Amino acid sequence: MLQPPRRNSDQPKTAVIGGGIIGLSIAWRLAQCGADVTVFDSGATGHGATHAAAGMLAACAEAEPGEERLIALCREGQARWPAFAAELEEASRLSVDLRREGTLVLAPTADEQARLKHQLEFQHSLDLPVEWISTAELRRREPHVANIAGAVFSPEDHQVDNRKVATALRAAAEAAGAVIREHTPVQEIAIAGGRVSHLVLDDGSRFAADAIVLAAGAWSRSIAGLPAEARVPVRPVKGQMICLQMNAAQPLLNHVVWAPGVYLVPRRDGRLLVGATVEEKGFDTSLTAGGILALLEAAWRVIPAIEELPVAEMWVGHRPGSRDDAPIIGPSLIEGLIYATGHHRNGVLLAPLTADVVARCVLDGTLDPIVRPFGLDRFAAAKAA
Ligand SMILES: Cc1cc2nc3c(=O)[nH]c(=O)nc-3n(C[C@H](O)[C@H](O)[C@H](O)COP(=O)(O)OP(=O)(O)OC[C@H]3O[C@@H](n4cnc5c(N)ncnc54)[C@H](O)[C@@H]3O)c2cc1C
Repeated sequence: MLQPPRRNSDQPKTAVIGGGIIGLSIAWRLAQCGADVTVFDSGATGHGATHAAAGMLAACAEAEPGEERLIALCREGQARWPAFAAELEEASRLSVDLRREGTLVLAPTADEQARLKHQLEFQHSLDLPVEWISTAELRRREPHVANIAGAVFSPEDHQVDNRKVATALRAAAEAAGAVIREHTPVQEIAIAGGRVSHLVLDDGSRFAADAIVLAAGAWSRSIAGLPAEARVPVRPVKGQMICLQMNAAQPLLNHVVWAPGVYLVPRRDGRLLVGATVEEKGFDTSLTAGGILALLEAAWRVIPAIEELPVAEMWVGHRPGSRDDAPIIGPSLIEGLIYATGHHRNGVLLAPLTADVVARCVLDGTLDPIVRPFGLDRFAAAKAA
């Protein structure tokens, strides 16, 4: 059993609201530095969007014009994953299945080819490592793909098993000395004299803290106590996903594959994730025939052999989407309150980076310049302009 490091009483007593991949990563980093950190989750840790995600670490294949700053952030997040995964596996003694086959983006029609080639020009202008590959090369990599004229290969867009990451993070955080309080919803962040004072929990009890990290994902706006100008514009963006079961010894796919309207993510144990819808339906949790049909049809068009696969699982999750779909990271108007939310489709990818940046912000008050464009103040600035 690993011994937790000694607590350092000079460091702020920190409460993290939310035990998803973001809150747990931050708590792990803080606890590693000897900080007194407690994570509160309204349910079981890792069972929000973190449980629902596909675990793609995709900074390149999705890159589109207008998102240059977010792309730079995502690339930095991506660069930190291999070391983060290795350190996490060592600290937790659990595997997180980081797979490095890369991602293939398929272009089944002439229109789609033209669109991808145009996007490729933009991606090359940012020096992103993506390349056009021929049908023969595509076939060599993935023999089960339907007859398709070409594809983009993105060799650095990998994947990790997000559910395993959440389990490992919890173990590593606890081993480092973090306290995890599950089934303990935070109702309110109490403020006194312009700074955070304590949390009010569901049963009315208080938890005093010098620093509070708001990492409650899609629920981040619902916690009471903050003035309007400090509340985050984060909303739930519903995603439905279906999981098929391949033969793990002879999987249909090895790469992550993108095609119009769908992505497919093969896991080592033979699970094949087929995702995901993007819906503005609030916290609706229903799986719909239309959502599942659209995903399966789009997947079947590019990998017809999926029709033989048994269905293993289906679920719904809620991405924490901000007004511009980029995360909100860093200090707030309230002293001691730090945001780590709004990660939308990139929360798994950005967890190592967010954890490092937020832990440093809590411990010594400094903010890494890479996240400066991602403060809450950008929305006020956009309104004033
Ligand atoms: C279908 C789908 C596919 C996705 N695929 C990818 C992908 O491939 N790659 C990628 O990088 N990202 C992906 N994402 C996005 C990613 O899942 C999220 O960005 C990420 O999980 C956000 O993590 P989080 O910790 O902020 O939120 P969550 O994991 O939602 O955690 C928030 C936690 O806060 C808790 N909470 C809520 N309210 C309270 C309260 N009042 N008090 C205490 N606790 C509270 C919740 O119980 C929850 O555990 C996907 C998301 C979805 C839905």
